[in-house]
Amino acid sequence: MGKFLADRFRALEAYVPGEQPRDRKYIKLNTNESPFPPAPGVAAALSSCADDLCLYPDPEYTSLRAKIAEYHGLSPECVTVGGGSDEVLDFIFRAFFSGGSVQFPDVTYGFYKVFSNLYGIPYREVPLKDDFTVDPADYTEKCGVVIANPNAPTGIMLDRGGVLSLLTADPDRLVVVDEAYADFAPESSVSLVGEHDNLIVVRTFSKSRSLAGARVGYCLASPELIRDIELIRFSTNPYNLSRMACAAAEASLADREYFKKCVGEIVRVRGRLLEKLSELGFEATDSASNFVFARYPGMRGDALAAALRERGVLVRRFAGERTGDFLRITVGSAEQTAALVAALSEIVGSPLS
Ligand code: PMP
Repeated sequence: MGKFLADRFRALEAYVPGEQPRDRKYIKLNTNESPFPPAPGVAAALSSCADDLCLYPDPEYTSLRAKIAEYHGLSPECVTVGGGSDEVLDFIFRAFFSGGSVQFPDVTYGFYKVFSNLYGIPYREVPLKDDFTVDPADYTEKCGVVIANPNAPTGIMLDRGGVLSLLTADPDRLVVVDEAYADFAPESSVSLVGEHDNLIVVRTFSKSRSLAGARVGYCLASPELIRDIELIRFSTNPYNLSRMACAAAEASLADREYFKKCVGEIVRVRGRLLEKLSELGFEATDSASNFVFARYPGMRGDALAAALRERGVLVRRFAGERTGDFLRITVGSAEQTAALVAALSEIVGSPLS
């Protein structure tokens, strides 16, 4: 740590992203990326924006916001964009929680705690139930609520009734629903945006749209909330999305068939993977996302992850009393999943039927 670092950051623990390996080629099931390439129109859209790269992008992102709004049946005033949903969450924490406090589950996306610490926001980690579900009744504080839905790393979804009870328990409390994985789930809270002015739904192009490398996220909320987020966006980086990122995102939105095909395939392979894991003796949560969360009774999570790594398969594990023995495994292609299952079968010594 250098002598010039501001005192308030000296104890800051940064978010630790999943490994992007450079040493060899792995079957990469550790960061919930899509195994499929982006929509076929993305490459052409990228090359046709090349000549305009001498110009800054439109800081209002009029075209992309209109297309996202149209896709969700909302007006463009209900949309703003960020460099990945991480940046959108960053704006939200700054706009609404700094100077106040926030509550989120004890087992959830690690960035919520990092943003809280970065901005000096007191936070309460609300324990998930023993089965890793969220009970809305546990969110008793008057301050803001942030939930990932489906949650990460558990994959479990809180149903619409549960989200509604978080919203209606106190209409003066802001509820942020991070839907990074909602395209793989049977329900979304987007349709609640028009009816609840205390709701922000955060979404991303990183998972279901195969654009993790383009860094495009957005959120949907009442025009008033969006204006407040825009205040922060324009006070930090009004050109936060590149022309290339916008071109890729718009081309992805234009191809609904390809999107449906990719999401459908992930959901199909997820079902197959959960069946195979159960056959092998694993216990897994009921995932509504593009990853599964599973453990093998009697075997430590770190040993299991290391044995997979030796066999060329990367997965993610989160240290901690409740999570340490679980592996979070991204649902890959059918071929990647077959290789994963073969490796697991070898490790736990159980032949597959
Ligand atoms: N929310 C959740 C729950 C996530 O798991 C992730 C992925 N790390 C993100 C947000 C951020 O994704 P991105 O910035 O790529 O949109």
